[in-house]
Amino acid sequence: MGNAPLTLNPGERGANPDRPHPGMVIEAGGPQPGKPPSNAATAGIARALTRGMPRRRNRQRMSKPVSICVIGSGYVGLVAAVCFAEMGHQVTCVDNDEAKVRTLCQGGVPIYEEHLPELLAKRLGQGVSFTTDLGGAVERSEAIFIAVGTPQGDTGAADLSFVEAVVSEIARSINGYKVIVEKSTVPVYTNEWISRVLHRHGVEPQSFDVVSNPEFLREGTAVIDFLHPDRIVVGANSERAADVLRRIYEPLTGGSYYTQPGALPGACSAASPARLLVTSAQSSEIIKHASNAFLALKISFINAVANLAEAVDGDIEDIAAGIGMDSRIGPKFLRAGLGYGGSCFPKDVAAFHWVAQQQGVDFQLLQEVRKINETQRDVFFNKVRAALWTLRGKRLAALGLAFKGDTDDIRESPAIDVIKKLLEAGASVTAYDPAAMERAAEALPATGKMSYAAGIYEAAKDADAVLILTDWKVFGELDLVRLNQVVRFPIVIDGRNLYRPEEMLEHGFTYVSVGRPASYQAQQGKPRRMVL
Ligand code: NAD
Repeated sequence: MGNAPLTLNPGERGANPDRPHPGMVIEAGGPQPGKPPSNAATAGIARALTRGMPRRRNRQRMSKPVSICVIGSGYVGLVAAVCFAEMGHQVTCVDNDEAKVRTLCQGGVPIYEEHLPELLAKRLGQGVSFTTDLGGAVERSEAIFIAVGTPQGDTGAADLSFVEAVVSEIARSINGYKVIVEKSTVPVYTNEWISRVLHRHGVEPQSFDVVSNPEFLREGTAVIDFLHPDRIVVGANSERAADVLRRIYEPLTGGSYYTQPGALPGACSAASPARLLVTSAQSSEIIKHASNAFLALKISFINAVANLAEAVDGDIEDIAAGIGMDSRIGPKFLRAGLGYGGSCFPKDVAAFHWVAQQQGVDFQLLQEVRKINETQRDVFFNKVRAALWTLRGKRLAALGLAFKGDTDDIRESPAIDVIKKLLEAGASVTAYDPAAMERAAEALPATGKMSYAAGIYEAAKDADAVLILTDWKVFGELDLVRLNQVVRFPIVIDGRNLYRPEEMLEHGFTYVSVGRPASYQAQQGKPRRMVL
């Protein structure tokens, strides 16, 4: 198939955005002709089309398994490898980190992710294996998924050196037609660069196709997200390659996975299977960057509104509820707090801005999204200082180190950033996190001022203030009576809005949160409210 440019049908602009437009192709699991899609909002946004690609009917039988190689066994690669095996494929997962591969071969899971240990135990040697031998894995595979890191480079652009290194290695082992799949998040035109590198290494054009298949999983719910996706996006400039990806995902798009014994329950089912959207490779690459940038934008937007709410004595929780009840907006990603972090949003916003710049497109909005996010950490730091007057010599309990709850990932974590600032200002910090302490200890080694506790109340013991930095569920379920007993002063500064101010006040705490007036427990007399 050629790489035909996307066109809109006449009369399409201004049409009801909840209806699929006439040329829209969502394959298996998509809207039935003449019927609105089950998730109208999502389907209405989809505008990427392929011409000449046959629309598939739902099938509940498993097509022939595909031999798959996944390169990279991190949050994305490992989850993808184990889930592909669970879907019935033969998977070899490759990593150049020998220690990691050794752990995985013994059934150990190097990351904290729900359902992963059980699935790995079930599929190890029964569909998935691990190796450092990239060449051997490529030779015996039909589809090769690249899932290595694409960190932020100095200019904001994604650093594609890991991808390039892997492609050069793949080139040496191509022994027949292979579909090379970009699973890593990469800038537009990476598919062309991969093709170019393969050509330079003397690989014949008919021996491969490069396909974009971005991953939308979220850490913490990665396995369920993978097996019950909102959508699967395949960006293919060749019909032959798109067909291989259709075969790979058929257990999800045809629904057979959802009826298999032991299938994990989630949003998809045999009656409402996963939807697969086929686009050009460039569109698919942009879909991933644009999706992450849009989610980051929602977070920065609500944080900017939170700062305004705080200035006028409003309540951001009420405001966010009121905004989110609009079905065009939706309630997700409207949680005010310390801002986004992690290995994706910060670097993807920067990379998307860089991509736009390279194409001569002025996308200043993305700079603003980043700026608001960075400022939010300073806003929080200033709240801690305002609540304690001075920080030097103060003893603070930090609840949370991971960039969000349900993960051990501390990359670009706002919690780590805030703790570093507090230590620099002369405070001492005792931190606790249910899963991220081991990783955090590498970035923030225990010293005289920095220490780690084995539990929440141990961290809070004798603290001048307790800071909530990560939205772990357990931090929202504290025994407030016990907490009040162990701290030196009952002050909670909550960067994640896990409590109602009235509840904290009732339990005798001075409570400072985001986008809401601080509730101040006076030492004597009636409690009063304080605006910082
Ligand atoms: P990660 O750092 O957790 O894992 C990358 C893995 O690749 C590591 O285990 C590393 O050892 C391995 N690796 C690096 N070079 C290699 C080589 N030459 N050969 C073999 N293995 C090699 O990264 P991640 O979080 O899984 O992210 C991978 C990609 O997926 C990134 O582009 C990221 O933006 C994207 N992504 C991540 C998430 C997420 O939530 N983490 C979600 C969607 C997309």
